[in-house]
Amino acid sequence: MTPLPVLSNMLTKSRLSAARQCQRKHDLQYRYGYRPAREADPLRLGTLIHLGLESLWSRGSFRYRDMFDAGVDPWDIARIIPMLEGYAARWGETDAEEYTILAVEKEFRCPLVNPATGKESQIWQLAGKLDKIVLEKSSNRILIMEHKSSGSDISPGSTYWSRLRMDSQVSIYYAGARSLGYDVSGVLYDVLGKPKLRPYEETPEENRKYKKDGELYANQRLNAETTDEFEKRCMEEIASDPNRYYQRGEVVRLAEEMDTALIDVWQLGQQLREAERMNRSPRNPDACEKWGTLCSFFGVCSGMESLDNLMLFQRSDNVHPELSLVEIGK
Ligand code: SF4
Repeated sequence: MTPLPVLSNMLTKSRLSAARQCQRKHDLQYRYGYRPAREADPLRLGTLIHLGLESLWSRGSFRYRDMFDAGVDPWDIARIIPMLEGYAARWGETDAEEYTILAVEKEFRCPLVNPATGKESQIWQLAGKLDKIVLEKSSNRILIMEHKSSGSDISPGSTYWSRLRMDSQVSIYYAGARSLGYDVSGVLYDVLGKPKLRPYEETPEENRKYKKDGELYANQRLNAETTDEFEKRCMEEIASDPNRYYQRGEVVRLAEEMDTALIDVWQLGQQLREAERMNRSPRNPDACEKWGTLCSFFGVCSGMESLDNLMLFQRSDNVHPELSLVEIGK
């Protein structure tokens, strides 16, 4: 395997997350530029949800189906449209009254500073994209607003929210926003829960059981569910309990917490540098399966697939496709 000629010195939240999970995964993606040809379901849905929210915030309304190009899986659309419609119903009016948008999809690139010494890293920079910077009218405070989607429990008090207290991502957002000149007071996490429903399959003929009146028993089907039926079912599920699917919470970073989080990032950067110097990237079998989804590189690490299989992997020297490198590289 030959490393890419140009290595990125940017630490983004995705890169740090990959590095924390598994150094082999980090290296495959960020040193060698490999990506799965098809994004894993949670990532793909997350990207589409972002697209929809962007449309809502910038235009004030959705042109639902037109928003997605012809290549988008109709089952993804059937899942996402109810989430977006529910979002508009839950937050649409509040947002118009409460927030003034100062910036959308704002990219940043700033030095990684060691909080213990005040020195800038000679190797790494922090980089990323902020979903939104808003002015909260009622308090006159500037907030970063981050849209997230999650299949976990997002109810108040759940682990989802406690974990954010130590998430270095929040501190990186602060550092990024301040480097752009925004004196932010907090990060408002705007979280959409993903319905866990699955499309119904047709019941195989040999397993069908009929009642006396000739009807099939509940949960048995003559035909597989259509995308329209599935979309309607997702819509009903969300409408039955909106608080389960839409939550917001503000995460504030105290100076000490900010330092601790940035020391974590600094330390991880050091480890990545050392791994690169030694040309070693240990695998972490404990991270191969997460929430029932296998890592995209599982076949490669377990010796069953090749990175050269173009049906499975793509290679690119742009290892941060979420950023427009031209703009932030100025
Ligand atoms: S399959 Fe496992 S060991 Fe391989 S890159 Fe993914 S997480 Fe790491």
